[in-house]
Amino acid sequence: GWGVAIVTAVASRLALHRHHLEETLAPFRLDSEQLKSVQAQMREAMVRGLRGEDSSLPMLPTFVCATPDGTERGDFLALDLGGTNFRVLWVKVGSRSEGGVKITNQVFSIPESVTQGTGQQLFDHIVDCIVDFQKEHGLSGQTLPLGFTFSFPCKQVGLDQGILLNWTKGFKASDCEGQDVVSLLRAAIRRRQGVELNVVAIVNDTVGTMMSCGYEDPHCEVGLIVGTGTNACYMEELCNVSAVPGDKGRMCINMEWGAFGDDSLLQELCTPFDLSVDKASINPGKQRFEKLISGMYLGEIVRHILLHLTRLGVLFRGQVFQCLQTKDIFKTKFLSEIESSDLQRRQVRAILEKLGLPVSCDDALMVREVCQAVSQRAAKLCGAGVAAVVEKIRENRGLEELSVAVGVDGTLYKLHPHFSDQVKDTVRHLAPRCSVRFLQSEDGSGKGAALVTAVACRLAGSTRA
Ligand code: BGC
Ligand code: MG
Repeated sequence: GWGVAIVTAVASRLALHRHHLEETLAPFRLDSEQLKSVQAQMREAMVRGLRGEDSSLPMLPTFVCATPDGTERGDFLALDLGGTNFRVLWVKVGSRSEGGVKITNQVFSIPESVTQGTGQQLFDHIVDCIVDFQKEHGLSGQTLPLGFTFSFPCKQVGLDQGILLNWTKGFKASDCEGQDVVSLLRAAIRRRQGVELNVVAIVNDTVGTMMSCGYEDPHCEVGLIVGTGTNACYMEELCNVSAVPGDKGRMCINMEWGAFGDDSLLQELCTPFDLSVDKASINPGKQRFEKLISGMYLGEIVRHILLHLTRLGVLFRGQVFQCLQTKDIFKTKFLSEIESSDLQRRQVRAILEKLGLPVSCDDALMVREVCQAVSQRAAKLCGAGVAAVVEKIRENRGLEELSVAVGVDGTLYKLHPHFSDQVKDTVRHLAPRCSVRFLQSEDGSGKGAALVTAVACRLAGSTRA
């Protein structure tokens, strides 16, 4: 009778929805072959980049040649620009018996009008923040050595010189690309009379992270960030770095792996959703690997998939809510929350309802599957990248087996319930001859910048400690 007919109709509608969902998510489920191919392409791009040949990986020398040896001492200022916040830090590096590294820091917001205004405004704002910080903490009038964590691609010709190649993430201040960032900072210091600063080093956040973990563990020779953006650095043999003369010893290389695939290598992996995210971004065609992995973009990918599924009638009874059409509404924080395994369906619904999405139980489950597919793909791609790096280090050293540690920072890696495990699994699978420990850095950008500065001061024999 009617009852049976209705039940059958509902069941077949659900089966159809399932089918649409599976079809939509299938391209996100990367298999072992695909990951091996990413690893191999990454490896090739590394080698070409190091040789100065055409490559989407710039493989930038950092002029950091030594990890800390524990004898560094002194007081340092550090700046951290390029993540969610801008911070100024006062870092005291003492002996272990004195408590090791002590950090005092203050967060300053940088309004979007400044990150996307003129370079002068941006650097004047930074100097204003430093001056406030010095007043607040009784440091005015002291000229402490300063390390500047500047988390963007810079072509360095020395430790304290870095030409910004291009902005990434949400930044777009004018008149900075192609300029030496330290000179821009020094010019802003001169404009603000009565202030003296001693800028010693410019440091990528990956390098700071490697250094801060290296302070605890000398086997830490890789730095990894998975936060707003993503990137990695590692210790490479100087003889392989054609941009820097000399062939003894090692130098830390900032890979800028966020740009991997900008030469269209990743095209086969990109879904229509990735293309939409890229197109609507501030830097279309750029940072293609980053846009598959990092916190700034995962929520957007999810949002585009949800829109698609809604238009197919699979989600939200086919009703396209306003909030689904709002860019950046889906924060990475939500992905982490929704994917928490101990979460009840009810709680998933609550999160979505807060966003303005009145959802059914089925909706909630499907949204969660979408989040899982997107974050799993990100973690696996990140793992394939790490596998390429540690395998290169192993081969560089002619070792059968390599034991190495990776210092990691970034909110996605640290806060997502499964991301770090999936990265580790992938690395184990793709680099079986490497035993890789992952160390979470504590304030890599702050402590690390101070340590780079401290090592430089130690080598120059100029710390005031
Ligand atoms: C930047 C890198 C940085 C990474 C993580 C990327 O967008 O280009 O320099 O290390 O984000 O913050
Ligand atoms: Mg950071």
